[in-house]
Amino acid sequence: MVRSLILFLLLAGCATPKTMLVISKTAGYRHASIERGVKAVKTIAQDLNFTVHATKDTSTLCTETYDVVVFLNTSGAILTSEERDCLRSFVESGGGFMGIHSAADTEHDWPWYGETLLGAWFVSHPPVSQETLQVLDRTHPSTAHLNTEWNCTDEWYRYDRVPEKTTLLMTVHGHPIAWCKEIKKGKSFYTGRGHTKACFAEKAFIEHIKGGMEWVAQ
Ligand SMILES: [Zn+2]
Repeated sequence: MVRSLILFLLLAGCATPKTMLVISKTAGYRHASIERGVKAVKTIAQDLNFTVHATKDTSTLCTETYDVVVFLNTSGAILTSEERDCLRSFVESGGGFMGIHSAADTEHDWPWYGETLLGAWFVSHPPVSQETLQVLDRTHPSTAHLNTEWNCTDEWYRYDRVPEKTTLLMTVHGHPIAWCKEIKKGKSFYTGRGHTKACFAEKAFIEHIKGGMEWVAQ
């Protein structure tokens, strides 16, 4: 009886889904693709057996427990100093962070966010265009489904620096556009794609996000 109870608890423990917090709060530009993006990220996360909470309420960073946090097209100064501390200690103690597109146009006044968590901040962008991305690392789960070149349409950000201590995954015209890094016990993945509504219906982009999610959750 006791043995079967222990077995049950072990199995129940293994089956417990991981949890994901998806933040889409904006204090600056608000992308029209957010709603579609949230829907797509939820579907991907559920495919990976995550329980998802999508919200604009950043206080959840301190009040909830989660395994992965996604900043989906966030913008501007959105965090209180307490929320900053919660996010930083979450990542440093082994959490997974994923930034999509204008996550890099967020928290410009918080050095740790741009310099360490993301690796760079957004500076400017030309109009939406179709470009050929160079896929530098095809061993990563977020890029394993791609060829060495990826033709796609998006808004291509320029950043204020080349991110340091990162694995560069893709470039566009020689500029970094997706990368990942380890921060103490945690992991961070960033993709510059995600401006248009259409990209969240693009199979290759969905696979790209899914792979990033799997990687940060490991
Ligand atoms: Zn954009």
